[in-house]
Amino acid sequence: MNLPAGQGRRPGPATSTWHPDPWHLNVDLHCHSTVSDGTLEPREVVRRAHRNGVQAMALTDHDEVGGLAEAAAEAGTLGLCFIPGVEVSVSWAEETIHIVGLRIDPCNETLVQGLAGVRGGRQARAVEMADGLAQAGIEGAYEGALRYVGNPDLISRSHFARYLVEIGACSDVRQVFQQYLVRGKPGYVPHRWARLDEAVEWILAAGGVAVLAHPARYRFDETRLWALVDQFRKAGGRGIEVVSGSHTEADFVRFGQWSRDFGLAASRGSDFHDPAESTYDLGRLPCLPHTLEPLWADWPELADMQPTIADA
Ligand code: AMP
Ligand code: MN
Ligand code: MN
Ligand code: MN
Repeated sequence: MNLPAGQGRRPGPATSTWHPDPWHLNVDLHCHSTVSDGTLEPREVVRRAHRNGVQAMALTDHDEVGGLAEAAAEAGTLGLCFIPGVEVSVSWAEETIHIVGLRIDPCNETLVQGLAGVRGGRQARAVEMADGLAQAGIEGAYEGALRYVGNPDLISRSHFARYLVEIGACSDVRQVFQQYLVRGKPGYVPHRWARLDEAVEWILAAGGVAVLAHPARYRFDETRLWALVDQFRKAGGRGIEVVSGSHTEADFVRFGQWSRDFGLAASRGSDFHDPAESTYDLGRLPCLPHTLEPLWADWPELADMQPTIADA
């Protein structure tokens, strides 16, 4: 893959230089494009982030790095710092969890092959999802969902959700998930994703840093969640999302405490998918609390940036 100068070099180890005020840089380390289940092209996501005042951003499409070259090129044109990223789907304790990889080398063979394996089952799963929905009286969902897919390798529940809204089965995608696409509902198909240790291993092999995505979303009790975070850290994970578009304000506080307790650096990311669907727009999240260690505090790419955002 050809990335423009300065954007695609294999990320070296972070320096020991700590940014004087990393908390007030507008950093957004989680979002999606049409290469997975977002609705904007990679270059449009970058333009929107730039318009919103984002200073450094990572595109983190699900199980796919195919949008990074386009996004990096656009970021290079706009003078926005681009961090190559990915969000890996993992099965852990019979639930799906997500691990974000940041500052990855998208050409790394271990990572590329690992992600190809994870994407592999999506097609057959989508056919089964459509069968389930047909039994619930919703015909043609596979073909309908495909019309929303930007990358044929990456058909996801979000594409089905958009189709079901289109045909008036529900009023918004959130409702579609609740009624049709979560465990126990007609369009839900259990699926075996990557193992936690291998997902972290691929990210580390690609020179990246592994971050536990939106921990508040997982339906585990405290003990299970504790075991997950512990295993993640032992596998080589370094960060945890605290200020996330998939979290409530109470979750920011709760997982801020987990970040401190586990010694995992805190991340900030909108999890932006679409202007109408997403709770937070790119870069429009609260700052990380000053009591937390921002994941990016010692990244050399950000060393010379001036703070641009204020505390809420
Ligand atoms: P998949 O990878 O096909 O299982 O789809 C997962 C994606 O569905 C997530 O990345 C979210 O974008 C979306 N999603 C999951 N749960 C919900 C929900 N309750 N409401 C809206 N979107 C959701
Ligand atoms: Mn998604
Ligand atoms: Mn996710
Ligand atoms: Mn995401």
